[in-house]
Amino acid sequence: PAAPAGDAPRLTVLGTGYLGATHAVAMAELGFDVTGVDTDQAKVDALQAGKVPFYEPGLPELLEKNLATGRLRFTTDVASAVAQGDVHFVCVGTPQQRTSHAANLAYVEAATTAVARHLTKDAVIVGKSTVPVGTAARLRELVAREAPAGVDVELVWNPEFLREGKAVGDTLHPDRIVLGGVSARSEAVLRTVYATPIAEGSPVVVTDLPTAELVKVSANAFLATKISFINAIAGVCEAAGADVTVLADALGHDVRIGRQFLDAGLGFGGGCLPKDIRALMHRANELGAHRAAGLLQQVDEINMGQRERVIDMALEACGGSVLNRRIGVLGAAFKPLTDDVRDSPALNVAAALHLRGAQVTVYDPEAGDTARRLFPTLSYATSVDEAVEGADVVLVLTEWDQFLGEDPARLAPLTHRARVIDARGKLSAEAWRTAGWDFTGLGRAAA
Ligand code: NAD
Repeated sequence: PAAPAGDAPRLTVLGTGYLGATHAVAMAELGFDVTGVDTDQAKVDALQAGKVPFYEPGLPELLEKNLATGRLRFTTDVASAVAQGDVHFVCVGTPQQRTSHAANLAYVEAATTAVARHLTKDAVIVGKSTVPVGTAARLRELVAREAPAGVDVELVWNPEFLREGKAVGDTLHPDRIVLGGVSARSEAVLRTVYATPIAEGSPVVVTDLPTAELVKVSANAFLATKISFINAIAGVCEAAGADVTVLADALGHDVRIGRQFLDAGLGFGGGCLPKDIRALMHRANELGAHRAAGLLQQVDEINMGQRERVIDMALEACGGSVLNRRIGVLGAAFKPLTDDVRDSPALNVAAALHLRGAQVTVYDPEAGDTARRLFPTLSYATSVDEAVEGADVVLVLTEWDQFLGEDPARLAPLTHRARVIDARGKLSAEAWRTAGWDFTGLGRAAA
């Protein structure tokens, strides 16, 4: 991309996790001067040394390249970073609260307060974190209270839609750019920041603050609903002797439906979908929109029920009890192409079987380390072979390409009992059965 002119806005990115690190690197790639700020010294040190502290395809190369240009740096010193910046992106976490379904906004409030207090010149604060509707309006009041007199500061909302595993491409080529609550001035600034993707055709939606906040959570709620819909239908398929994978392919040919997010299986997880639908459920109830809350409650229940379903299938495969049975688990990440194990269905099932007395050995191509940090008591293998060795049952819980490419005939003799539960609907039942496996899939009739 063409380098922005010398008077281009200088950017700061508050929070350098999955979203913020990607955003900071991508904005530097677009030619801007970017400072990434985080409170986590270890994360900052790693990024400054050219190491991405999580797995995200393509990001390490781009980080290294842009650090070398001198346009990109990382620091914990929020005061000096903010003092030099013109546009401040808030990318900190909004996890679920421990005691309720609501989002924890403490990090967003702390980061926004820090930016506001350290402003030394006119600026735009751009919220990118996923927040409950109404948050931005409250943050505006906070900024008005905290910003020094004499600086002209605006707070706007520009929600982020990137997908882990495809974060770099999604940031450089977004499906849409939503600008909430912008004035003519801040809209112009953000159109400058996103000039390259806009020129390449990314549509821009200019709207108010609540709509911008709600676009993000509604997108996630819709995707979650689609997954829970197909999982509910999978239950009907199993009972009726139908095959949900064929059904999903047939449904997907209808362009109004589309094939994506119609994979029946263990359901959704990760750091976004579960907490975002719960936060929306909570907020919808607060606002008196009980129908939306009720719908999302069902979506969440169906989703969590899939984990129970797979645990039951493993119990059944082991004759009613998994005590002292060896279970090989393939997959720990909540989806392929990430090492993110936040609210991971795979790890959740593995841990539940461990608690029931099984000897669970987990293998994941990228998420072994993050999984070990969260569940240190599980055993971790360094290969598929090691995970399935001596297993009474093998569970495929994350649909990594590596697992789909395994030769079932080669793996069968490594096990104690060649029994597999395909919880992601991606294996060929025929190929595995031909290779001598007892194959069970979610939403698929027994052989
Ligand atoms: P994350 O936990 O990976 O990163 C958050 C970072 O913020 C951490 O590094 C943390 O140390 C830092 N932080 C916390 N308080 C801070 C402060 N006061 N100042 C500076 N840094 C601070 O989370 P994430 O996955 O990057 O998500 C961030 C936000 O983006 C969430 O609201 C999430 O819902 C949203 N989002 C995430 C994705 C995704 O795929 N991960 C996609 C779209 C939107």
